[in-house]
Amino acid sequence: MELWKRSLVELSSLVRSKEVKPSEIVQAFIERKNNVEKKIKAYVTVTDEIAMEEAKKKDDDVVTLQTIPTLFGLPIAIKDNISTKGIRTTCSSKMLENFVPVFDATVVERLKESGYIITGKTNLDEFAMGSSTENSAFFTTRNPWDLERVPGGSSGGSAATVASGMVPASLGSDTGGSIRQPAAFCGVVGLKPTYGRVSRYGLVAFASSLDQIGPITRTVEDAALMMNIIAGRDHRDSTSKAVPVPNYLDFVGREINGLKIGIPKEFFPEDLDSQIRDILLQMVKRLEGEGATVEEISLPNTKYAIETYYIIAPSEASSNLARFDGVRYGYRAKDYTDIDSMYAKTRDEGFGTEVKRRIMVGTYVLSSGYYDAYYLKAQKVRTLIYQDFMRAFEKVDVIITPTTPDVAFKIGEKSSDPIQMYLSDIFTVSINLATLPAISVPCGLKEGLPVGLQVIGRPFDEGSIISVADRVEKISQIYRIFPNV
Ligand code: GLN
Repeated sequence: MELWKRSLVELSSLVRSKEVKPSEIVQAFIERKNNVEKKIKAYVTVTDEIAMEEAKKKDDDVVTLQTIPTLFGLPIAIKDNISTKGIRTTCSSKMLENFVPVFDATVVERLKESGYIITGKTNLDEFAMGSSTENSAFFTTRNPWDLERVPGGSSGGSAATVASGMVPASLGSDTGGSIRQPAAFCGVVGLKPTYGRVSRYGLVAFASSLDQIGPITRTVEDAALMMNIIAGRDHRDSTSKAVPVPNYLDFVGREINGLKIGIPKEFFPEDLDSQIRDILLQMVKRLEGEGATVEEISLPNTKYAIETYYIIAPSEASSNLARFDGVRYGYRAKDYTDIDSMYAKTRDEGFGTEVKRRIMVGTYVLSSGYYDAYYLKAQKVRTLIYQDFMRAFEKVDVIITPTTPDVAFKIGEKSSDPIQMYLSDIFTVSINLATLPAISVPCGLKEGLPVGLQVIGRPFDEGSIISVADRVEKISQIYRIFPNV
């Protein structure tokens, strides 16, 4: 099998047994990238030179090192809202088009300690606001399964790199679905950890009470491997928790006999696409056949999730994005008369339409008089949504839902209607509001396009969702199919 088709776990053992050199692996993935990237446009910045130089150094180190770390010499792409020292980090925004950070995000630091090699920075919706990468200030990434369709968003570039075999793994970020939805659309695995499981230090903040970094991979086992490296308390992020990190690989290959699965009726509404419903429910039957018990549950406040999310996320965004004023970071307008006009012109020219919309909505709902009516009320509903899940987890161990209401949509199909775009997150946002871990795994194809199944777990129980997703993957076998780019 070609090297670029191999998983992280397989590549890791090839390097550690010294069968293949890091430079051979990196070269194979660069060649693959050169063949497909022109069509897909997943990268904002490609770092081939840095990667080859690092790989050659590692070829020598492999010979002398006593213990070879897990990701030694393995190429991984990083979403372009995660800080990389000395490598441009743009958030796909004009505002940060030429911004070069002076420090690494904690997750990047940990990948480095494990020997990874950066392949580049992947495209996203500007500041991670969107569901299709069409909000990137630079270009739209294309879905490797159908170039006329979106890869999802906001981590569309990260999902497309993995799906097309340009890398075995990438990092994304997820505020309301941005890891899971693109993973579903691109037929790969995306894991959003529990809030507090992975350090956010160095992730450019969108909505700080919702944001989490997580892996996008071809296999569930690889997601577990990545989690082993990035999870855990970090003193530089006070919201990261000191909950012990298990070896996530122990949860791969487990039996699910006796596991209790909840099927929330609100996530399978009457008008859900019938093929999506059938594919999902057939998979649930298979899991039942393996000894899991399945019961219908109710998460009654789900119906408020989109509205709640689109009050809380823009509120936090309007505050977080106040720092981009032309003084300390990034873009500054050229012609201005005084400091006020400098701020105004910089922000007008530097931000795109969707980012401005969020800042305006956020500022509005936080302003005096509206704060109680919108922001405070949304916070209360957020608690109700959390309580729904906690009540459900008294009865079941994991919850299964579709990741998205349908497969990848066409480029341009929803971009002129923000509400339609927001609705594509209907099955993912409540999980962020409730701080829970969730994974999307491919479970079938609808008319040749991947369908994602979402497994949601109790807080800090990434292990159980990995076990279930692993079974889904072994049954569906979608990971063996490489889209024809
Ligand atoms: N699509 C959602 C939004 O636009 C979620 C984005 C994300 O998770 N970063 O807010």
